[in-house]
Amino acid sequence: MASPIMAPSFSIFGRKMESGLMSRFIPSISAHGCRKQALNRVLAVMAPTQPQRSPATTGSVKHAMSMTEKILARASERTQLAPGENVWVNVDVLMTHDVCGPGTIGIFKREFGQNAKVWDREKIVIIPDHYIFTSDERANRNVDILRDFCTEQNIKYYYDIKDLGNFRANPDYKGVCHIALAQEGHCRPSEVLLGTDSHTCNAGAFGQFATGIGNTDAGFVMGTGKILLKVPPTMRFILDGEMPKYLLAKDLILQIIGEITVAGATYKSMEFVGSTVESLNMEERMTLCNMVVEAGGKNGVVPVDKTTLKYLEDKTTLTSEPVYSDDGFRFIQEYKFDVSKLEPLVAKPHSPDNRALARECKDVKIDRVYIGSCTGGKTEDFLAAAKVFLASGKKVKVPTFLVPATQKVWMDVYSLPVPGSGGKTCSQIFEEAGCEVPASPSCAACLGGPRDTYARMNEPQVCVSTTNRNFPGRMGHKEGQVYLASPYTAAASALTGYVTDPREFLL
Ligand code: SF4
Repeated sequence: MASPIMAPSFSIFGRKMESGLMSRFIPSISAHGCRKQALNRVLAVMAPTQPQRSPATTGSVKHAMSMTEKILARASERTQLAPGENVWVNVDVLMTHDVCGPGTIGIFKREFGQNAKVWDREKIVIIPDHYIFTSDERANRNVDILRDFCTEQNIKYYYDIKDLGNFRANPDYKGVCHIALAQEGHCRPSEVLLGTDSHTCNAGAFGQFATGIGNTDAGFVMGTGKILLKVPPTMRFILDGEMPKYLLAKDLILQIIGEITVAGATYKSMEFVGSTVESLNMEERMTLCNMVVEAGGKNGVVPVDKTTLKYLEDKTTLTSEPVYSDDGFRFIQEYKFDVSKLEPLVAKPHSPDNRALARECKDVKIDRVYIGSCTGGKTEDFLAAAKVFLASGKKVKVPTFLVPATQKVWMDVYSLPVPGSGGKTCSQIFEEAGCEVPASPSCAACLGGPRDTYARMNEPQVCVSTTNRNFPGRMGHKEGQVYLASPYTAAASALTGYVTDPREFLL
């Protein structure tokens, strides 16, 4: 397909950067470190500022740094960093969930002792979300392990679920970790958030350094609050132009991954800037950053602005001064897109970079549609889908599953009026369109899960999904075919029973 990319990339590094997490388990490090930075820093700056420049101790001139380098420099108590350096980083938040939490806890106890205490009970966030509404005993046991550990350690932020029969009877239960982290104020500018989940990069939308780590690293962080990281080089993606009304952030990130491939950002930071990015709300910015890992990215970041600060207003008082890439910084690669020229996209089976125009796939008959996950199950995603159903006035032709990411999203689906609907909620519009009743919030079929997982693909069907991965077996059956798409495209496809460009209903 023709590409709207406008500028070639360039490289300032002559060598290939190593991929993969560079942290190593070194038990001899001090358990509590010597963190000097005050954590409760009051945000006083509303516009981009740059740090004071002073001569380096060697007398040499400081070099320009990217946002990501500045965050890591601050977290490692350094004034200067360069890509490729390995630094010990002080961690602000460690998140784990029901899939990796038990393994992390096991490693923590094995290495630090059965009676060891975590490094900071207020900086560990534990969120059961993956395999929740299932009768699978091992999955249920995982949640019990989390609960016991959080009680033992007096973990402040544990979002428990005890009554699996009715999620609403569990006021602490949130749902999908990455969206819960944002909604509960754990995503904060200029901090370091690590999670035992590859889509932890979602939080880069807040100008946070956020990345996924394995259980071994997480066990070490749990005991020390530190991690050894290799500083990634930074790529910049400039998205300019007015966003057409039939596009969503999902189309933008599918465009980028299609352009650079699933290995194109391996162990690199992906920084998103430009007038289009500035116009996106926080949930759309999350969609962009959520999928950087599908290009191999170490992390994604969006510069903090008034949209970020507005979102955070009622969520946290722990806000750091934002940092921004220096004007003179030379990105390892730079891509420019004219968003006004883009068209709705899908990623065909079985790779997120298998990009095609939605209209090129109009002959692909589908069996079902899935709207959910941390990528495509947020309030804005359901509002977008409802907009298409409302515009069409038709009923869906295939089973259409709706899985709100969190309890808050679920409530929004049932309470927020859809613009232009005369006061109808998403749930009313979905019911009129013949969709399935919105399910209990969780990861549900995004990751397949136990066989009784809601909306799991137990047959070799074809699905249009707002999720982020379409590898064989990802949503259940290994011969299933998943077309990744925006909520607009997913809703349009539900209405026709074929992969459908949403312009059929939105123009
Ligand atoms: S919704 Fe899907 S991608 Fe997101 S955390 Fe859950 S399983 Fe992972």
